[in-house]
Parts: sequence; structure tokens; C-alpha cells
Amino acid sequence: MHDCLFCKIIAGEIPSSKVYEDDLCYAFYDINPLAPVHFLVIPKVHLASAAEVTEETAPVVGHIYAVIAQLAKDLGIAEGYRVVTNVGALAGQTVHHLHFHVLSGKDLGSFN
Ligand code: AMP
Ligand code: ZN
Repeated sequence: MHDCLFCKIIAGEIPSSKVYEDDLCYAFYDINPLAPVHFLVIPKVHLASAAEVTEETAPVVGHIYAVIAQLAKDLGIAEGYRVVTNVGALAGQTVHHLHFHVLSGKDLGSFN
């Protein structure tokens, strides 16, 4: 087991507000929401960031996008949402377990 906050959340050692779970991924609400809807989707396998994705692990990323599309419908945000993954300190990554932010519920403006 990695000494990793999100691995501990997956294991249930640290509480979280679960949105969805299956064999490959886990989704939970962000503790510090930046939009009215803000949840994170993480692979159960520990990858430090998107920079560690390989051809071998890439299928879980595709699966996560399919899960996000379904959750967006289920949560009523399919009209518009943003998916973000930060890689490295310059991008503001603070938790070193790959995670996809899903943000919605307000006008998010243009990204740039
Ligand atoms: P990043 O800056 O991309 O690494 O994002 C990490 C995110 O994890 C931040 O938006 C935090 O608010 C969120 N976060 C940190 N700890 C927890 C926690 N225990 N439960 C839910 N979200 C968390
Ligand atoms: Zn981890």
C-alpha cells in the first residue's frame, strides 16, 4: 500500500463522500469545492499523475471518461462540465495519485 491519501480513501481508511465506485475507479466529492458541483474520479491503481500513464494503464483512463459521462447524466450536469487533471507542482498538483476533477454548476468561463 502506498502512503497516499487517495489510496487510503479508496481503502476506506479516510472517510469520503462517495459518488460512485466500481472495480477500476472511485469517485468522491472534493473537500474544497471550486464549483457547485466538484467531484474527483481516481483509478484504484496508484499512478502518481497523468504523466505515469502508459499503454498498459491507459484503458483505465478511457474507463474513467466513460464513468464521468454517465455520472454527468446522473447528476444533471451533462449540459456542461469541465474535466481537469493537474500534473506536477507548476500545475498545482497537491495529491500525487492521478485524479480527474469534474467541475460544473456555474458558468466556468473560458479556460484561458
Ligand atoms: P490537485 O491540486 O489537482 O492535486 O487536487 C487535489 C484535490 O484534492 C484538491 O481539490 C483538494 O481539495 C482535494 N482533496 C484533498 N484532500 C481531500 C479529501 N480528504 N477528500 C476530498 N478531497 C480532497
Ligand atoms: Zn495512491
